[in-house]
This record gives sequence, structure tokens and C-alpha cells, in this order.
Amino acid sequence: MGSLCEVVGPKMCGHVHTLRRRCHGPSTSFVASVTVVSQFVDESQLNIRGGDGGAGCVSFRREGPVVYGGPNGGDGGDGGDVWLVADHNVASLLAFRDHPHRRAGNGVHGKGKDLHGRRGQSLEIKVPEGTVVKDLYSGEVLAELYRHGDRWLGAAGGRGGRGNARFLSNQRRAPSFAEQGEHGEERWLKLEMQLMADVALVGFPNAGKSTLISVISAAKPRIADYPFTTLEPNLGVVSLDEDTQFVVADIPGLIEGASEGRGLGHRFLRHVERARVLCVMIDLAALDGVSPTTQMTVLLEELGAYRPDLLDRPRVIVGTKADLVSEDNLAAMGWEHPVISAVTQQGVRDLVGRMASAVHEARLVEPVSEGLVVIRPEASGAVVERLAENEYRLVGREVERVVALNDVTTPEALSWIDARLQRLGVLKMLARAGASDGDIVWIGEFSFEYQSDV
Ligand code: GDP
Ligand code: MG
Repeated sequence: MGSLCEVVGPKMCGHVHTLRRRCHGPSTSFVASVTVVSQFVDESQLNIRGGDGGAGCVSFRREGPVVYGGPNGGDGGDGGDVWLVADHNVASLLAFRDHPHRRAGNGVHGKGKDLHGRRGQSLEIKVPEGTVVKDLYSGEVLAELYRHGDRWLGAAGGRGGRGNARFLSNQRRAPSFAEQGEHGEERWLKLEMQLMADVALVGFPNAGKSTLISVISAAKPRIADYPFTTLEPNLGVVSLDEDTQFVVADIPGLIEGASEGRGLGHRFLRHVERARVLCVMIDLAALDGVSPTTQMTVLLEELGAYRPDLLDRPRVIVGTKADLVSEDNLAAMGWEHPVISAVTQQGVRDLVGRMASAVHEARLVEPVSEGLVVIRPEASGAVVERLAENEYRLVGREVERVVALNDVTTPEALSWIDARLQRLGVLKMLARAGASDGDIVWIGEFSFEYQSDV
């Protein structure tokens, strides 16, 4: 067990820093906890389990003097399913580090008087957009949940067992057996998320982008007085409350000509491309004296040259380094937008609030995807495994269900099992595999003696 736990324990790559900071939005106050993941790819492990089906019931009618009436055992309810659903309000896989085990509710057992058990409660697990779901062990990609609303059935609940009322037939007037519920599916998943920036910080080199991220988060990007200090975009996950998070990306220097591949160019512009909101940061104290108007013109031209539709993206405009500029200077420059100072914190909370509402509005107008994503092919059929010279095992969901009865020992249960295996074709499969009379055949926990027909 020890080694298994080592393999399957929750883990995340990269370093994660968390910081709690009290912020005040425009209307309400909130606690923003800002987490910065220093890599593009966030990953986590997740164990999911569908609910078990309820057992079918064995029961007989009792009406007045009739003590042994017909069978009336109800069916067990199906176990609940586990779904993974992409949700744009979830920005990271952090929640799964603390709670890697998720399971749906069990079905309720059937009862007498034909009372069927209730279905187990299904579970919807919210994952960030851009989550790729893999099998933890094989690495096989099982689903890709890109857009808000994309859903994937990760672990189906077990089917409820049928009550003895279902086994009534002309030959079987008083069936004394019922089916057990099936176990829910269980699997270990590896979730990988391609972080997508909700807000891209766009500005000239040295405009103060990295500094802003470091102020609203715990990131420690390299900050210096020369261009291109940040070579990788830093991503900050801002959590306003349980359900609302957004990702801010610090995109390194967008400079004149970047759209033609000069400077840091395209690699980073591609990140801008996916952002829902652009935060245009204008250096109000630019050392080389590039005026705010010129900065704005150049930045917008660059964005437009790269992809014209970027100009239609919601924009938040902010002037930076307000501590270095006097009110009079601002007036002289004709600056009309809000300003921030990373040094004095002036305007920072307000900016976070503006970003949050812009992201919220952008999300509202997005169409909700209705696409069902990749449903795994249902495993079906039976497989014959040869255990030893005269010993076989039948494996498969359907055959295993055949013996999942509350009591397999009664002659009527045995004859039902026999007929059922016959119909599933497994007796023929055994014959083809070379089974001969008297061989042992295992199904689940039970063993039977093989008898060829004739
Ligand atoms: P980036 O290239 O846009 O990421 O800019 P940086 O965040 O690296 O900042 C460039 C320089 O501006 C650094 O020396 C920062 O210390 C300085 N800086 C950033 N924000 C402020 C601010 O609000 N006030 C002052 N005085 N300096 C700032
Ligand atoms: Mg930077």
C-alpha cells in the first residue's frame, strides 16, 4: 500500500505561493487571495468514484392468510455519476490538492412491496477551462474540457440490483434471489491545465507590469530598470471568493515591431490573443520621455496589426507610476484615465476591482458550450483468462454482474446464472478456450464447475 500511496498522492508541479490580502472593489469589499503559479501548466491528481448501486430486495407478498404470495422485492437505485464540467469561474486546480478524492452518492437499496431505492446523488466537479484529463497510470488523454460548459462523464455510478420481483417466471414462481448493486467506477486521473489569461497586461517595457503582478500577488518576478526583465509571462491567479477567480498574465514588453516578429514578439502576443480583457498600462513617468499618447497609439497599432479583433476586446486603461508624477503634470499631459502606483498602492485595489468586473462581463456574454466531450467507449463483453491447467477466470462487467446475487447457492439462482451465461455466450467462449468438464471457472469471488452441454 505504501508504494501505491506514493504514486497516487496529490502533487502539483511548479512552486505555488499564496497570499491573502484584503481588497476593496468598487461596490463590495472582498478578500482577494492571489496565487501565482510560476509555470504555464498547472497539474493535479484526482480520484473519482461513482456511487454504488443499491441492492435489489428479496421479499414476498403477505396478504391476510396468504403468507407466501408472489415476490415483491424492489430494485436498488443506481449509484450517482461523477461528471467533470469546465467552469470559467474556476481558474486553477488548487482545490484538488487538498481534496483529491471525490465520490458520488450511493443508490438506496430496494425494499419490499415493490419499493425501488432512490438514485444516488450525482456529482459535478468544476474544473478550469482548458483542462486536459488523462489517465494517471497510462497517460491516455480521456477528455479535453476547453470551454465553459464542456462536460465529461468521468466515473459512472453502479447499476442498482434488480429485486426478486424481476426474476419471476413460469418456472420460477418464488425467486429467492435478487441482484446486488454494482460498484461505481473508480479511477485516478491526472488533470493538466493550460492556464489561459483572463487579463493580459499590455504595455511598453518598464511600464510596471511585473511590478503590478508582484504587488497584487506573491510573485517575485525579476524587476530591473532595463527592458525585457521578464522573459516568461508571470501568471497570477486572483481569487475574489470561493467561486470567482481570474488569471492575470504579465506579458513582457510589447514593443514597436513586435507584431512583425521583432523583439519578444509573437510568442507572447499569442498569450494576449486568448485573454478576455486587456489591461493597457501606460508609463506616466517614462524615462525616455515617450508621451502617454504616443505609448497608447503604438500599443493599439501593434495589437491591431497582430490581430485586428484584439481592438474589440474589452480594455482597462491605467497610468502607472503615479507617485512620480504630480497632479499638475497629469493635467498637463491631458491624462484622463485612472492611475496607480505600485509603490504607494494608490489605485491598485480599484484596478483589481475594475479588472474583475470586466472579466465578469466578458464571461457573461460568452456562449455556453453544450458540447459533450469524449465519452469513453463502454467496456463490454467478457474475456476468458486461463489461470492454470484446469482453471479459468471470466472477466467483464456483464458476467460479473451475473453472479452478483444476494444468494448464489439456491438451485433456482444457479439455473438462472446458467441461462444468463449461456445467453452472454461465455459458455461457448470457454469451450473455445479449451475448457473441459470438471474445470474450475471463476467469476468474481465465486467458482463454478464447468459442464459442457450435451
Ligand atoms: P515591466 O517591464 O512592465 O514588467 O516593468 P517592471 O515592473 O519591471 O518595472 C520597471 C521599473 O519601474 C522598475 O524599476 C520598477 O521598480 C519601476 N516601477 C514599477 N512600478 C512603479 C511605480 O508605481 N512607481 C515607481 N516609482 N516605480 C515603479
Ligand atoms: Mg516585466
